[in-house]
Amino acid sequence: MWPQALQVPGGVARLSLGPAAMRPVVQVRQGDADVQVLVTGDAIEWTAVVGIALVAVPGDAHVTVQPSAAVGAGGAARTVPFSIAAKRYAEQQLKVSPRTVDLSPEDQARYERERDHQAVVMATFSEQPAGVALPSLQMRVPVPGRRSSSFGLRRVFNGQPRNPHSGMDIAAATGTTVVAPLPARVIDVGDYFFNGGTVWLDHGQGLLSMYCHLSRMDVQVGDVLQTGDAFCKVGATGRVTGPHLHWGVMLNRTMVDPALFVPA
Ligand code: ZN
Repeated sequence: MWPQALQVPGGVARLSLGPAAMRPVVQVRQGDADVQVLVTGDAIEWTAVVGIALVAVPGDAHVTVQPSAAVGAGGAARTVPFSIAAKRYAEQQLKVSPRTVDLSPEDQARYERERDHQAVVMATFSEQPAGVALPSLQMRVPVPGRRSSSFGLRRVFNGQPRNPHSGMDIAAATGTTVVAPLPARVIDVGDYFFNGGTVWLDHGQGLLSMYCHLSRMDVQVGDVLQTGDAFCKVGATGRVTGPHLHWGVMLNRTMVDPALFVPA
């Protein structure tokens, strides 16, 4: 079953919801918002696939289940509990260009605009694109190369603590072709201060993936991709120490470990 379940901060919970004629609507509390959760399966068995935030507090958690979003579908909401185990991620010291740590007023303003834009992109929740068999969320690795196990590392840039590393870095030379890990629709293409050349893909129901530090982006917003379609190239743009692909995977607006979606 994909993704693999790992109930820790940055991991994924798979919650059995039982049978129902229609797909239930599931929400999880994220910060101060209720965010819709991916639900896979059929009338015999539905499963909620819940992304657990890196900032989640270990302990008891739950999702809220509505019978269905369909008009006239009655029934009371219920909660399904799950637990989050503690995981301590290691610390990583990085040396980068000082201007990417101590931001000038102009760069700070640019970063804040981009952060607001990314928040809109990350809130995308669509039905599954044509061709996606949601029961199989196993992904194809987007680029060949050595995969770092750096997801979740608490990062210190030039001695200053910053957000944890929320994706997988794959070592590859500038110009290496990147392919879609699942059928997708392109929902964002841009050049950002920290992430450099970036593409976001929507795989449906809040399952998104992002590709950063790209040297080339050969798609536009709205393009539809099938698994294995080439759509961009590895680079070293944005805040990087060298060429690589930064690959992020998001469920219910939270970055989770991409390693849970691909064979070892
Ligand atoms: Zn990275």
